[in-house]
Amino acid sequence: MPAIRLFGLPTDINSSFERGAAAGPAAIRAALWSERGNMASELGPEIGTDIVFTDDGDLPLTENSTYDDAAIRRHVVMLQEDGEVPLAVGGDHAVTFPLVEAAATCFGPVSILHFDAHPDLYDDFGGNPRSHASPFARICEAGHAKRLVQVGIRTLTNHCREQAARFGVEIIAMADFTPDRVPVLDGPLYISIDLDGLDPSAAPGVAHPEPGGLTVREVLAVLHKQTAPIVGADIVEHHPGRDIGDVTAILGAKLVRELTALIDRNGPYKN
Ligand code: MN
Ligand code: MN
Repeated sequence: MPAIRLFGLPTDINSSFERGAAAGPAAIRAALWSERGNMASELGPEIGTDIVFTDDGDLPLTENSTYDDAAIRRHVVMLQEDGEVPLAVGGDHAVTFPLVEAAATCFGPVSILHFDAHPDLYDDFGGNPRSHASPFARICEAGHAKRLVQVGIRTLTNHCREQAARFGVEIIAMADFTPDRVPVLDGPLYISIDLDGLDPSAAPGVAHPEPGGLTVREVLAVLHKQTAPIVGADIVEHHPGRDIGDVTAILGAKLVRELTALIDRNGPYKN
């Protein structure tokens, strides 16, 4: 079974409205290791006991996107070449571009399961092509996605609708959502969870809360039905400054455990 390596990406330089997600990794890590909870997963195994899991701390980032992207790619390629699976905690959603780029370097184009209120397909946002509103446009343009399925979407602008059609993105709009409508994807699979895909009642600690979102139970149902080998995953956009009673950090920690158990259950990807 693959070893799973957790690391934080404390950056919010590509946030479009309000910074704060750089503090996300520390908050989720504190919730993960707090004695308030334990390391059980709903799939059965205990993280760290039944599954090899290490918390490698945060990557040192610089506030320069070019340098940071290269540092993230180097780190992820190193893990993947050793047969380990990167589990990144953001940070704003812009980090998913170098994370997926590294996975595609190692494994070729990946299937992507993306939870979000927003499609993040802007050609640029406010003049920034590396905006956290644009990572999936960059991923699609580069040919890194053999399939991109977006779940929880409820903010589709005309521009992003055109971009989705152009890139062949499969959007399961929140208005039509049931877990059954989400396909079971082929490997190599990459999973990206923007916490604002969940309803603000479950995840208030985000920069762009959007009502009418997914429940925790619905996210777990979609995750647990995925059977393909997972080559990487991220949990992004936690903004502790907007959290209430640490519930979003505690949710982030739970998703770390559930993703770890799922990566383990689905097993290593073989080219
Ligand atoms: Mn979002
Ligand atoms: Mn996003």
